[in-house]
Amino acid sequence: MKIVVQKFGGTSVATPEGRAKAVERIISAREQGFQPVVVVSAMGRKGEPYATDTLIDLVKNIHTDVAPREMDLLISCGEVISTVVMATALRNRGYRAVALTGAQAGIRTDGNHGNARIMEIDPEYINRHLAQDRIVIVAGFQGICEDGSVTTLGRGGSDTTATALGAALQAEYVEIYTDVDGVMTIDPRLVPDAAIMKDISYREICEMANQGAKVIHPRAVEAAMSGKIPIKIKNTFSDAEGTLIAEHVAERVITGLAHLSDITQVKVGPLDGGDVQMAKVKVLKTMAEARISIDMTGVAPNSIFFIIKGEDTGRAKAALQKAGYNTTVDPGCAKVSVIGAGMEGVPGVMADIMESLDKAGITVLQTSDSDITISFLIKESDLSKAIQILHDDIELGKI
Ligand code: ADP
Ligand code: MG
Repeated sequence: MKIVVQKFGGTSVATPEGRAKAVERIISAREQGFQPVVVVSAMGRKGEPYATDTLIDLVKNIHTDVAPREMDLLISCGEVISTVVMATALRNRGYRAVALTGAQAGIRTDGNHGNARIMEIDPEYINRHLAQDRIVIVAGFQGICEDGSVTTLGRGGSDTTATALGAALQAEYVEIYTDVDGVMTIDPRLVPDAAIMKDISYREICEMANQGAKVIHPRAVEAAMSGKIPIKIKNTFSDAEGTLIAEHVAERVITGLAHLSDITQVKVGPLDGGDVQMAKVKVLKTMAEARISIDMTGVAPNSIFFIIKGEDTGRAKAALQKAGYNTTVDPGCAKVSVIGAGMEGVPGVMADIMESLDKAGITVLQTSDSDITISFLIKESDLSKAIQILHDDIELGKI
């Protein structure tokens, strides 16, 4: 029988309404002759009783020094609760169903607690249940590492569970159910008239996800891409057709926009006297040693600049000052990226974007570009205006 993997995110399983819709979608796949393998997230978001953040707060109110291994065991519980609820709901509707933790589903990861990577999936466990005609419900976001400890995959990890299972089980496709109608040209929370895309290539969605569009996790796209499994992003709560993510999709000049907030710009310099080139290398090494990842790196004759996550600001400043560098940090920035595979080799896109922003009085602090992305660093206070303007100009074909 053909397998379909269906993943239901936090908002989908949080409410009785969402769960009822999810159950209908699972049953409908089943009635269409598929064997559904279902991946669930924890129920709800911060503040709700079983959400991952709530579990963390619960224990942190007792101990501030929970070890990473135990923290993973704790935060893996939210998804486990969801599997039990969903398996029971299906059984109550007369279907055979079984709830599995990530470990019980054969998901093996490395030992990097809190941000583990899936190394391999032994499909034997799930296949055994499928052979007995059960609908399998797997706890997302988790696995087991070599020493037998439970691990978690980091934010958005359930998406990766779903696509990695899709590849391991050679599913027909993976459906990611969430609270929006599909992949949009920009986060609909920022621009309400964002357009839904009918389809998008792995490469473009991966870039959008890397640049901050959290509709799907970039690692999840990679897992699907390597297994050549199509993904459908759909809304649990509507019958919209959703977005197909696949390989052979016509790519556009500009596909969409994404943003990352709470970014800090770091400038180191002037670097004068001595070996300036060596000093620049040392600045980069200082960041690497402090395990701070940097982006949008640029060099000028006697300075070097880059961006970091806002949360790393204090550590970055301390490390650079300790090493004796003249360092300026500007927190409160945002990175806006314009993504489109068709931009490759098309001249003038950067100029058009700069012109749009300039007309709106928005200062661009820094830019960077790769083959399918152009990114701008601006003040966070300009973010919503910048995004709205760029979105409008793309729609109107000015860019
Ligand atoms: P889930 O709990 O189902 O995993 P997420 O909150 O992780 O849901 O992802 C869905 C959210 O992603 C949407 O509510 C939307 O605000 C956000 N999002 C960001 N960028 C985009 C985009 N380009 N298209 C669609 N949704 C986006
Ligand atoms: Mg998500």
